[in-house]
Amino acid sequence: MLETRGLTASYGQFRALFGVDLTLAAGETVAIIGANGAGKSTLLRAIAGICEGRVSGQVMLNGASLTALNSDQIVEQGVALVPEGRAIFSDLTVKENLLLGAYSARARADEAQNLERVLNLFPKLIERQTQIARTMSGGEQQMCAIGRGLMAKPKLLLIDELSLGLAPRAVEKLTDYLIAINKEGLSILLVEQDVMTAFDLSSYGVVIETGKVTLSGSTAYLSEEPRVREAYLGV
Ligand code: ATP
Repeated sequence: MLETRGLTASYGQFRALFGVDLTLAAGETVAIIGANGAGKSTLLRAIAGICEGRVSGQVMLNGASLTALNSDQIVEQGVALVPEGRAIFSDLTVKENLLLGAYSARARADEAQNLERVLNLFPKLIERQTQIARTMSGGEQQMCAIGRGLMAKPKLLLIDELSLGLAPRAVEKLTDYLIAINKEGLSILLVEQDVMTAFDLSSYGVVIETGKVTLSGSTAYLSEEPRVREAYLGV
């Protein structure tokens, strides 16, 4: 469903991505792993059309090019990004945050139905709908951020750092939710520092080092791969 070919991104003279080729099949969850500064966020932002740098190469969704589209048009094509650091509107309520996720034309008509779906998925948010977002726990804020992404009615959800700053129990819960969403047919491209969590969620993994894909394969294979074990699993 998603394909990048020769995706390159530069910030001024600095090149952050060097021709990244990536494929994600419909209904699949793919994990991107790599050290700090490897280019993982840049890759997601380039796919979502919000990379501040200069981007070249191809991004295709179900065979159609996203390359010439702006970020709103990319959302309309069914791609939603849950950004690093959650980036929820901290002074708005949970419900206002969720509804803002449904601004695209593709989602607006089904706003009420999608809200119900998101609240079913994250029952915790039902009782928190009128709460100001910044007063929620980190795990609840991440639920809100993922919920907002889902309000866009995406076919593909890009998640940048699912577990950052969250307690293990909150991560476990979110992992269960994502497995449930994925079973409903949503494709997920996940950037995750915690490689165990990333591999639990994903069938396929891609290792990015200094802007290049250096290794990829099934997560079953990668979790036995000596370089991955040493560099990312601490074994
Ligand atoms: P982390 O795991 O630390 O979030 P990452 O793998 O997501 O890292 P990126 O955020 O994509 O890495 O950054 C890749 C490189 O591009 C880094 O060297 C970073 O400093 C640089 N970079 C990212 N955004 C910008 C920007 N807006 N302007 C200049 N340089 C940037």
